[in-house]
This record gives sequence, structure tokens and C-alpha cells, in this order.
Amino acid sequence: MYTSLAQIRTDLESGEINLPKLVNNYLETIQEKQHLNAFLEVYEIEAKERAAIIEKKIEAGVAGKLAGMVIGLKDNIVYKGHKVSASSKILAGFESLYSATIVERLLAEDAIIIGRLNCDEFAMGASNENSAFGPVKNALDESRVSGGSSGGAAVSVQAGMCLLSLGSDTGGSIRQPASFCGLYGFKPTYGYVSRYGLIAYASSFDIIGPIAHNIEDLKLVMETIAGSDENDATSVQQAIPSFLQLPKETESKRKFAYIKETLETEGVEPAVKAETEKFLKELISKGHQVDAISFDLLSVMVPVYYTLTTAEASSNLARFAGMHYGFRSQNAVDLESTIKKSRSEGFGPEVKRRIMLGTFVLSSGYYDAYYSKAQKVRRLVKNKTEEIFKNYDFIISPTSPTTAFKIGEKSDNPLAMYLADIFTVHANIAGIPAISIPNGHDTNGLPIGLQIMAPLGKDAALLNLISTL
Ligand code: GLN
Repeated sequence: MYTSLAQIRTDLESGEINLPKLVNNYLETIQEKQHLNAFLEVYEIEAKERAAIIEKKIEAGVAGKLAGMVIGLKDNIVYKGHKVSASSKILAGFESLYSATIVERLLAEDAIIIGRLNCDEFAMGASNENSAFGPVKNALDESRVSGGSSGGAAVSVQAGMCLLSLGSDTGGSIRQPASFCGLYGFKPTYGYVSRYGLIAYASSFDIIGPIAHNIEDLKLVMETIAGSDENDATSVQQAIPSFLQLPKETESKRKFAYIKETLETEGVEPAVKAETEKFLKELISKGHQVDAISFDLLSVMVPVYYTLTTAEASSNLARFAGMHYGFRSQNAVDLESTIKKSRSEGFGPEVKRRIMLGTFVLSSGYYDAYYSKAQKVRRLVKNKTEEIFKNYDFIISPTSPTTAFKIGEKSDNPLAMYLADIFTVHANIAGIPAISIPNGHDTNGLPIGLQIMAPLGKDAALLNLISTL
């Protein structure tokens, strides 16, 4: 199994493999591992056709910088002429009329898109159990979840069904499944990657990012997809630093803070705590400064996140009304019943729960008590985070309090599920970049993830740090 583009390139150059063969190998693996439920659709014919075309470009020496990279797309990123469903019944039969900016940019550099990947419905979840098309199984232990919401994106890479995948992260959906599957998952600074063509969940939190086996592939893809986009008014306006040209800073000593509450919070598994502490000790032994800091807003992070994201979701998802997109109820007889019945039959239980919660927190009489208060606390979190970064380069915590849990273990308990996001939502609330990197295993051999957050806009510096650790 290939775990880096560099390996693929070497074998392409030596003639060990060619692109059509590589694509065939991936297609075979997808077939063999169908039971993991990572792919919702495979673009077999198209991937083969593109492989033949790009193979010729490689021979002629004119191929793009992602030639040889076979990728999967989370099923909430649109691709012209292809179905997209956000893993929801409500988009049944819907085909996109345009491509997401990131899709255009990946294709322009000769990446091959091999299919679309299962996820939690509308990216709402932390285990991929909320998909209308069933859960994704963790390839390391099939009785366990993949993590979510980009579960298909993580497992497709973990199990060698593609080299890299693109997911979305609103509150941890790239980092947490990457952590559960032993991979690298990167959530960029808000606005650094265009959201044009990403089906909106909570627009002021959503961001697209990659999941891969290694940091160099993440950099290459970030170099390709990041930057301003006239189709997304919230995308970064100024030029951003290159992900590929930063000097290697092997000698420099950095200042790390770790939030001590993240290791003391109830529910953090002993192995997660132990491996995180081991990582911190290693940093110290390499001469870096590592300090424990306190972050008294940790306990309000999950409530703030769910207040604001459900509010935004209730508004974003109003457009799915049985009119313009996908599914319309067979039982509809007039305008009102078309909307009511299509929404009632089309959305799954978690999405409905969030639309109701979001509508409630925005309703007159409750707006000030919930929505506007949560906005204020969001500002406090941002300010407090900026304060920390005045003294530190990076903030460290576990990615998730636990390793991959059993399928069904938390699915009846939304609050327990929401608490799985306790460490990841911080970066989305503050808009800052964050990465999950593999950091050892628990006693069952399940991967543990470590999260490192950096100041706004320090995406390249963060990825560069990982290359030098
Ligand atoms: N688990 C979080 C949620 O359900 C994160 C989802 C995400 O990042 N898309 O909202």
C-alpha cells in the first residue's frame, strides 16, 4: 500500500508502476473493502480515463504537481455533473451543476478523483453513524467507529482505497476521524480554503481540509487548494505564505503551551493522557519550552459550539424544502405539505434535532439568552486564545478524549457524542488552524491523536513544525 505521493512518483519514474495500473489497484482495493462502507460512489470509468490522459502528460513531462495522487471527496463537496448527497436522503438524485473551487484546483494539478465518501448527514456527528447510508467501519477494528463526520474520508485513506481525501471540519470532523484512524488531518485557518461548493452546515465555522498518511502530502494539497477565491467572500483576501517553501527550522526552539484541563477532564482515557504527556516530555527533552496553562473556558466550549452551529444550520438547511433540490415527498399535496413532509421524511433524526435546537436558540425571547450570549462567549474564547499566543507558538492537547469507540456505544446519547468534540471545537470557535497527528496507541492497539493549534494564519508554520518534530 502506498502511503505517500513521493513513493508513487518514484515508482512511476522507475517504471515500477504506471498510472492506469495504480488506479486499477485502488479500484480493486475499494471493491475488496466495500464492507467498510467508506465510498458512496466510485467513479471507475472516469478515473481510468483520466489516468490514461495524465499518464501521457507524465511521459511528456507536462503533468501537474498532483499527478499520481488519487483522492476521494467527502460527500458534501460538489463536483460538476456528479451526484452529491451530504449523506442525506433529502438530496436523493441531486447532481451538482458546478464544481467546488477546491475540486477545480485539484483537477488543474492533475489529481484523480476516484469517488465520493460517506459522512455523517450534513457533516453533523462525531462517529459517522448519522449517515443515511449506514456507518463507516474503522479498518483497524470493524466493530468500532471511524470517527466523524468525515469517516469515509478517513477510512478510505486508512485502508488504502485512495492516497488522500478531502473532508470538512466544522468542529473537528477532519481531526477526530484522522485521530481514530491513525492519520494526519488538517483544519486550516477559517477562510484559507474556499467554501465555494461545500454544502453549508455552519458557515462561520466550516472549512475544507485534507486527510493523509503524512505531512508532506498535506502540504502539497494545501499549496494547491488554499488562497483567496472570488466566489467566497469569507475567503482570505491577501496572499498567503507558501506551504512548500518555508525553511526547515530543525534547530529552533519553540514555545508550547498545553491546556492542563484537557488532561484532567473527566472522560480522558488513561492511555490518551499518558501518550500526550509522553509527547510533551519528548518536546522538553529536545529543548523546547513546554508550559501548562489554564483555560477556564474549556467547559463552555461545547455549549457555545452547539448553540452557534445549530443556529447557523437551522438557517442553512432551510433551503432543503422539497422544491429545488433532490427529494420531494410522495405524500405532498400542496405547498405546505410539500415542505413539511419532504423535510420530515428527508432529514434524519440528528439533523432534525439540530434544526429544532437552532430554531429555538434564534427564536424571539430566547435569542438574547442563547444565541447572542454564545456569540459573546465566542469572542471571549478568541480573545483568550490570542492572549495565549502572545506568549506561545503552539497549543497542544489530545485530539479526542478517547480512541475509536464501539459502533452503537454512544449513538443513543447525543450529549455523550457532543462531548467527544470537547478539544476540537476550540479551533473552529477561534478560527485558528489545527492538526491531528498520530501519537501512539492504547492497550487495544487503537491509534491516539495529538492536536496542535497555531495562531490565525500560521498554517504553513504549523505544518512545517510537524515536518521538523
Ligand atoms: N462532531 C461535530 C458536530 O457534530 C463536528 C462536526 C464537523 O466538524 N462537521 O457538529
